[in-house]
Amino acid sequence: MKSVWIDRFFRHSGRIPLPVSWYARLWRPPVIALCYHVVSDEELPHIRGLYDYKDSRMFRADLRYIKNHFRPVSYEEIEAGPVQKEKGKIPVLVTFDDGCRECHSVVLPILREEGVPAVFFLTTAWIGNQVLFHRHLMALCLREVEKMPSDYSRPLLAEWGASFEKRFAGVEAFRTWFLALRSTRQEVVQQIAARLGIDSAGFLQTQQPYMTSEMVQELKREGHCLGAHSHTHARLSELTAEQMAAEILTSANLVRIWSGQARVPFAFPRCGDGIERHFLLALRRQHPHLGLFFDSKDFKRDVDFIRNRVWCDQRAGSHEKTNLPQQLRTAFHKQPFYALTS
Ligand SMILES: [Zn+2]
Repeated sequence: MKSVWIDRFFRHSGRIPLPVSWYARLWRPPVIALCYHVVSDEELPHIRGLYDYKDSRMFRADLRYIKNHFRPVSYEEIEAGPVQKEKGKIPVLVTFDDGCRECHSVVLPILREEGVPAVFFLTTAWIGNQVLFHRHLMALCLREVEKMPSDYSRPLLAEWGASFEKRFAGVEAFRTWFLALRSTRQEVVQQIAARLGIDSAGFLQTQQPYMTSEMVQELKREGHCLGAHSHTHARLSELTAEQMAAEILTSANLVRIWSGQARVPFAFPRCGDGIERHFLLALRRQHPHLGLFFDSKDFKRDVDFIRNRVWCDQRAGSHEKTNLPQQLRTAFHKQPFYALTS
């Protein structure tokens, strides 16, 4: 609960209309890296309910703001070393995590029209739509439960309460418990989905929520960079060193095959907390095709091969007006706290 209030405080603080350039002058980030997941004009049933996402007009407004105030750069420029600021404009790197289908159908044409390069970090087991991410399945389950009349949902919640030794006062209480389930308890999600009659295989076939290998190769052909985002999106800090290395290397090797890139950057699924930096350093030394690593802690400084990113999926209030300044201010406001805790 405490973190929800802190998060809300920072979000509100970003509304103070001070120029972002003032913050940039104060904190001097060498690069601003942005992290998105998906952009869509449609209701995505497997995502809505988990996190917010922008529509195509909002995303285009973000890119125009970036082009007017900063300098969009490619991953290769960042990897090559300190990026030059042109006319005082800070370099900005646009990235997308997960490998959702809309990266190809919605994001790619907008990037092409606006002339902005991006990095697409892929959860490689999902590419080709053979597996549905358990959290995407969770969103489908919650959608079913939330649209049920209470006469139907009440006995179901009582049934699940008895099975899992919980007492759900209502759908909201169930939702909180369900979303907090650890990734090691995926069988619970499967059990609940089966009870609700949700057909994962059918959803994968009809919705095609993820890109195919042909689609990701098209992103590459258009000049974008492909990155790895683990093989199964497991929380790396919960794995043994051997399992963690397998998640990182399997995904990086597949991305190398699809992209033909000499170097493959990697973005932590969820976040990089609790992962030994010495372990990652040794892994990069053994496998020189591993590029830079990316986390999602705004502008927090980390070891030299890890860059942090600002999460930008939160919808703007208007379709045409960007909310990036607000999101960047929020991220800059967290800087003193990151500085104190690192
Ligand atoms: Zn992810």
